[in-house]
Amino acid sequence: MHRHEQRHALVLGASLGGLLAARVLADHFDRVTLVERDALPERAEQRKGVPQGRHAHGLLASGLRTLESLFPGLGESLAAEGAMRTDLPQTRWILGGRRLKSESLGFPGVCASRPTLEAEVRRRVLALPNVALRDRHDVLGLVVEGERVCGARLLGRRDESAEEVVHAELVVDATGRGSRLPTWLEELGYAAPVEERVRMGMTYTSARVRRRPTHANGDLVVVVGATPEVPRAGAALAVAHDEWIVTVMGYLGARPEPTLEGMRAWASQLIAPDLAALLADTELVSPVATYQFPHAGRRRYERLRRHPEGVIAFGDAICGFNPIFAQGMTVAAHEALALSILLATGRTDGLWRRFYARARPIVDVPWAIATGNDLRIEGVEGTRPAGATLLDRYLDRLLAVAEHDPKVGTAFLRVTNLLDAPSSLMKPATMLRVLFGRRATPALPADTTRPPSPSTSVGHVVGTPPTDDPDAPFRATMRIG
Ligand SMILES: Cc1cc2nc3c(=O)[nH]c(=O)nc-3n(C[C@H](O)[C@H](O)[C@H](O)COP(=O)(O)OP(=O)(O)OC[C@H]3O[C@@H](n4cnc5c(N)ncnc54)[C@H](O)[C@@H]3O)c2cc1C
Repeated sequence: MHRHEQRHALVLGASLGGLLAARVLADHFDRVTLVERDALPERAEQRKGVPQGRHAHGLLASGLRTLESLFPGLGESLAAEGAMRTDLPQTRWILGGRRLKSESLGFPGVCASRPTLEAEVRRRVLALPNVALRDRHDVLGLVVEGERVCGARLLGRRDESAEEVVHAELVVDATGRGSRLPTWLEELGYAAPVEERVRMGMTYTSARVRRRPTHANGDLVVVVGATPEVPRAGAALAVAHDEWIVTVMGYLGARPEPTLEGMRAWASQLIAPDLAALLADTELVSPVATYQFPHAGRRRYERLRRHPEGVIAFGDAICGFNPIFAQGMTVAAHEALALSILLATGRTDGLWRRFYARARPIVDVPWAIATGNDLRIEGVEGTRPAGATLLDRYLDRLLAVAEHDPKVGTAFLRVTNLLDAPSSLMKPATMLRVLFGRRATPALPADTTRPPSPSTSVGHVVGTPPTDDPDAPFRATMRIG
């Protein structure tokens, strides 16, 4: 392992992204300091800087596997905290109006609340001997010498605090979707990255509710995806033996009353009745929380020609996905591994260019899966790659076959869990099953009694897919709703 002599790395933001960056930086730098504006609790608690903690937070199978490689035994530790171990057959996926069958993945997943997961990761990162935490500190800006960032300006949140400069050889910006790095770059005379946006005006409405053993026949995850006909979705995750966290979502400003009754009414209008049945037979164990998600945004740092040395964006600061697809934490974990591989070479010159080049394909697939689905909803605005409808019929057929064929369902769910590339669905064995397998027809009917969505325009198809990527046309059409 290469270790930079007496070197210091500074990580801005100590949510999942910052913690994962700190974990790998600790292998390569002498000291790592995490800076966070919130006071970080010892235990699993909600906090202001992570409002998403009150909503369903799924960890994809690929994310858990990557986290386990960084934190051996993480799944077991979470289970000891009360989180539930799962496998695909205990999860219920109704996607594209189809109720998918699936087989075991061969390794267990985990259902934990976001505060539980973050607290366990934080505990392990802060136990590293060369990692320090400066919580209750705001990051005000960068410190620059010539073309190199060499630290950040911080302000403690106590009354008597004065601004201070902390020097570092590398600054990792993990301050999330609200990252100010684009503005800081402009202030320093650099161009800001282009940001691609998909505007969806989504609202999340969530609550923890009592879980009974009879709910969902004992399944631990229930996901009812949106479709173009029924642009509303919902999910329930068993985050403890006796507790669900249930989230319902609506596009384009459509949302339920933020009450249990409102969530029940909303769930009754989804394409399948599973969540409504669960909500009909439970009671709240937390207040109802809401979260507005106006748009998904991807900052194209990899396209910049000039960028200062000594700083990189990370996690949601690069790409904030529509949370419905549960991809953000997994992408941050993959970025952490990419950063580790680059640092192991011992070279830090041009790190920003090499890191963003590696982050691009990590973001490409989940971005295409999420936006490909969102842009099918009438009124969602954004750019869909050309060729996006090329394989739609194949995927329609695949989902229909997956209602009977667990091998096809598993192949599909492996892709949405970011374990396999989308092109894996075109392997001959899967194709034969899709083309000749028994299909259930039709898909679950749309509820024609639902109120019309307040959509104003139709998502349009423009742009060009990357030509060097065999998965591109497939990714563009990866529909799970
Ligand atoms: C409603 C919702 C639901 C989601 N559901 C899922 C899911 O099911 N599965 C999944 O994988 N992902 C999900 N995500 C995404 C996931 O939460 C993020 O991808 C993950 O937290 C990594 O983000 P991050 O650490 O880069 O940024 P964030 O989590 O946004 O954290 C940024 C951190 O920086 C701190 N900070 C910000 N500015 C400053 C400053 N100036 N000074 C000091 N500190 C600062 C904040 O307090 C915060 O701690 C969801 C997101 C939302 C919004």
